[in-house]
Amino acid sequence: MGNFIEMPKFDMSMTEGTITKWLVSEGDNIEEGQDIFEVETGKASNIGDSLYSGKLLKIYCAEGEAVPVFAKIAYVGKEGEEIPEIIADKAEVKEEVPATKKDIEKETAAAIEKSKPAAENYDYECVVIGAGPGGYVAAIKAAQLGMKAAIIEKGEFGGTCLNRGCIPTKAFYASAKVYEDIKAAESFGLSVEGVSFDWTKILNRKEGIVKKLSGGVEMLLKKNGVAIIKGEGKITDGHTVSVGDKNITSKYMIIATGSKPVSLLQNVDDDVKLLNTDDFLSMDVLPESMVIVGGGVIGVEIANILSAFDVKVTIIELMPRILPRADEEISDLLKEKLTAKGVEIINGAKILSIKKKDGKVSVALEDGKVIESDAILEAVGRTVDDRAFADLDIKRDKKGFIIVNKENLSSIDSIYAIGDATGGYMLAHEASKQGEVAVNSMLGIKDEKEIIIPACIFTKPEIAYVGMTEKEAKEAGYEVKVSKFPFAANGKALTIGETDGFVKVIADAKYGEILGVHIIGPEASNLIHEAVMAMSAEETVKSAAEMVHAHPTLAETLMEAFLGAASKAVHI
Ligand code: FAD
Repeated sequence: MGNFIEMPKFDMSMTEGTITKWLVSEGDNIEEGQDIFEVETGKASNIGDSLYSGKLLKIYCAEGEAVPVFAKIAYVGKEGEEIPEIIADKAEVKEEVPATKKDIEKETAAAIEKSKPAAENYDYECVVIGAGPGGYVAAIKAAQLGMKAAIIEKGEFGGTCLNRGCIPTKAFYASAKVYEDIKAAESFGLSVEGVSFDWTKILNRKEGIVKKLSGGVEMLLKKNGVAIIKGEGKITDGHTVSVGDKNITSKYMIIATGSKPVSLLQNVDDDVKLLNTDDFLSMDVLPESMVIVGGGVIGVEIANILSAFDVKVTIIELMPRILPRADEEISDLLKEKLTAKGVEIINGAKILSIKKKDGKVSVALEDGKVIESDAILEAVGRTVDDRAFADLDIKRDKKGFIIVNKENLSSIDSIYAIGDATGGYMLAHEASKQGEVAVNSMLGIKDEKEIIIPACIFTKPEIAYVGMTEKEAKEAGYEVKVSKFPFAANGKALTIGETDGFVKVIADAKYGEILGVHIIGPEASNLIHEAVMAMSAEETVKSAAEMVHAHPTLAETLMEAFLGAASKAVHI
């Protein structure tokens, strides 16, 4: 009994293929792995190989024919063997005229024109409330697509991200990294003496960067013709928002009002000053020791910064591990590295009380342990900032975040909500993308492409991930193949002296679909974008591994990890 050769599935979105050329003929002897036909998938040309050795007894599918994936296209067996009679499946014939870029642009422009909201009855077509990374991007997009747009901001342009989040923490992170690198100069054969830091200068550097970026956002809004309204917006109905004594009307509104730090700690004495992330970012003087309550992304990033500047940090986390949402091996390795830097990490800990004792903060845990420190910072999450919509009858979840559909439309059909105001993972780039989705939805522009959101954690080593963890993939029912490649086996990592960590690829064992990529190691926050690109382009681990990577680069670790998932890595 011989074997059928089937139309392979070359990429995740492939449904059919057209045999453009047979490279062998009926009666030929063929070898396993031999290239036997060329196929066009609509996305690319591919070569099909044989999974079997033997005589090619029958070709069921002629050149030029399109067949669905996994359809039987040929039969390989032994001389004289009876050849099964089958009728090859034919793919549905579609008259498809390929659209040119110009056609697509024309169609999009026509769609926008057709669905443009009439502005004559309203002051604006789109009013955005909040100028964080969600709101300002949405307002610029709306204006760029021809809508009469305005943005209302009560504070600084750039929102939490620029002023109290991503950028200031990364400015501190950069200072911490340079300081640690200089202290490690000896290992590079360099002698540096008298290394010290000046916190005031670090703080001023951070403030300079924030100011520059915030001014840049205001300028971008103006340049794109977005009307800027300064003040606190309060939505009064589906089309009206008031700022002071002024009512502004709009066909559509976008709530992009973000979030604020939440305080969940109980039994805290009145004389204890509980710091939050906003307080940390403007601290004039560093304490000698600090307790950080919460071992999530923000908690570990702050612990990483403070420990670099010799502050004795203790992280208290309720969950059994820090970074509970990250891959388990990654959170374990980060715990090991932070501990080696002197950070004490207490997991599964419940706080009973927080008191002031002899000028120190005294934190009592359920297991009887008491931790004393100079300061305490609460990083247990964020809550919705609902001043703009507190009195509005808009659907919210149990935590108060606005419920939206895939297009970011809320329960009120003229009001969209984006970013932190909708809860979720709370990432700046996710907020921006949602802004774009909301504006496209107003204009009837369809974007069917799956949105893939990476996440980065700026610690030493850096962490970045996209897609499912190994556990999530298994729970979702995938037959999972895991491939891990260590930075210790990468030449570039050795030259820069950063060999801690690994790249971990989670793939579907059957088709090689990339389900998730998790990185802990140098430049993880930049490297992850190769994985995002590969997943967006629906590459398989095999095709991603086939891409040539320059040597010596950190990116070679990704190539090796993809290769390990497809077959076997070369350098381990
Ligand atoms: P915001 O950025 O919060 O902006 C909301 C804006 O709305 C604010 O400017 C506010 O003043 C304004 N506003 C609110 N109510 C009104 C009203 N009634 N009228 C007028 N204006 C109003 N994310 C990352 O992706 N990467 C990181 O590295 C990162 N680091 C972070 C570090 C820290 C310490 C923190 C706290 C957050 C960090 N984040 C990070 C999260 C990121 O900052 C948020 O996800 C992002 O800012 C959300 O954007 P947004 O536009 O939804 O809201």
